[in-house]
Amino acid sequence: FSILLIGSGGREHALAWAIAKSPLCAKLFVAPGNPGTARHGENRPDLAVSDHAAVVAFCRAEKVGLVVVGPEAPLVAGLVDDLQAAGIPAFGPTKAAAQLEGSKGFTKDLCAEHDIPTAAFARFTDLDPALAYLRARGAPIVVKADGLAAGKGVTVAETLPEAEAAVRAILDGSEGGALVIEECLFGEEASFFALCDGTRAVPIGTAQDHKRVHDGDRGPNTGGMGAYSPASIVTPEIAQTVMTRIIAPTLAGMAARGTPFSGILYAGLMLTAEGPKLIEYNTRFGDPEAQVLMPRLSGDLVPALLAAAKGDLSGVSIGFDASRAALTVVMAAQGYPGAVTRGTEIRGAEAALDEGVLVFQAGTRRDGDRLLADGGRVLAVTALGASVGEAQERAYAAVRRIDWPDGFYRTDIGGREVAREAA
Ligand code: ATP
Repeated sequence: FSILLIGSGGREHALAWAIAKSPLCAKLFVAPGNPGTARHGENRPDLAVSDHAAVVAFCRAEKVGLVVVGPEAPLVAGLVDDLQAAGIPAFGPTKAAAQLEGSKGFTKDLCAEHDIPTAAFARFTDLDPALAYLRARGAPIVVKADGLAAGKGVTVAETLPEAEAAVRAILDGSEGGALVIEECLFGEEASFFALCDGTRAVPIGTAQDHKRVHDGDRGPNTGGMGAYSPASIVTPEIAQTVMTRIIAPTLAGMAARGTPFSGILYAGLMLTAEGPKLIEYNTRFGDPEAQVLMPRLSGDLVPALLAAAKGDLSGVSIGFDASRAALTVVMAAQGYPGAVTRGTEIRGAEAALDEGVLVFQAGTRRDGDRLLADGGRVLAVTALGASVGEAQERAYAAVRRIDWPDGFYRTDIGGREVAREAA
C-alpha cells in the first residue's frame, strides 16, 4: 500500500528514510516534504495539509493505506480524527488526545488524578490568588502559560520578583490568560519515547537534547541543536519506573476519559533524587530526537505504526538496538534562532555520507543540482557507533566534510554522555 507522511523537517526526513525501507511501503508520498524526503518518496507540496477533505480525497485516489503525521499542528487541528472517520488508518493522536501536549493544565490534572509523579502545582486564571500562592511557596519556582496565553513560555524563576513578573505578564487581564505554577525540580533531564496504541505502550528509546544555541548551553533556546540516544542516565530500572508509574497510568487515564492515546508519547523527564518525574508530554516524535531514534530502530517501523493506528500493537515486534548509539549534530544558518539569510549554497552534503552516517535535511531547497539553505535548522548530521563517543566522532568528522561557510553548529553535542562513558 501507499503511505502519506505529513511534514517537512529533519524529523520527517528521518521518518521517510525509515518508512521507505519497509517492504510494505509500495509508494511513499510526503506533504509537503523537503529535498531530503524527495530521495525516499514523492513530495507533494501541492497538497494542502490543513484542508482535511483534500487529504482524505488524496488518500482515496492514491490508495493510501497509512498516514503518518510528523508535526504537532495537524494533530491539534484534528487531522487524525478526520482521516480515521473516513476509514483511513492514521498514525498519531486524535485532537482530544493531543491535549497531552497542547494543554499543560490538562496534563497536570491527569497526573493528579492518577498519582503520576510530577512537580507539585496549582492552576490559576486570576492574579491575586496566583500571587498569594507564589508568596506562600517562595522561590525558586516555575511559572508556565497555559491555554490561550500559551507561547509566553516557561519561566524558571530564581527569585520571587522574577516569578511575580512572569505571572503578571500572563495574567495581564486583557486576554484572560491561564497559568500553571509549579515546584522547581532538580536533576538531569532526559526524554523517553513510547509507541502507543490506546491501551498498550512499547518503549522505543531514550534521548537527551541540546536546546541552547551555543556551546556550554549558552544563548537563546532553539528547536534543538543536537541529540543523542540512548541516554544512559535512564537506566533499565528507571525506564521500568517510567513505564509503570508514568506511561501506563497516562494511557489508562486517557482511555478512561474516552480519549485513548495512540501515537508517540514523548515524555520530558526530570530525573530527581526521588525518581523520574514528568515535566511535560509531547505527542509526536521530537526534532532532532527522531534523527537519532530512527537509525537505532530494530525491526520494521511500518507494521508498528499501522498496528498502533489500528489500535492493536500486540504481536508487533519493534524495539531499538541496545548495542548501537546515535548522535546528531544540527547545522543551522547564521543568525538562527533569529532571522537567517536563505539561499546560501551547501557543498558536500553527499560526500559527508559514510558508513554509519546519515545527513537528514530540514530547511533546504534544490536549485538544479545545487543544494541551498532555506531555513534556520538546515541539516542534521547523524552517525551511529558502538558508543555515544564513537557516534560523536563520526558525526563531527562528517560535519567537517560539509562545505557551508554560512552555517554553524555546536561543537559539544553529547559531551556530558561522552564524559560519563570515559569515567
Ligand atoms: P518545550 O520547548 O521543551 O516543549 P515548553 O514550553 O513546553 O518547552 P516545558 O517543557 O514544560 O515547556 O519546560 C521547558 C523547560 O523548563 C524544561 O525543559 C525544563 O528545563 C524547565 N522546567 C520546566 N518545568 C520545570 C520544573 N518544574 N522544575 C525545573 N525546571 C523545569
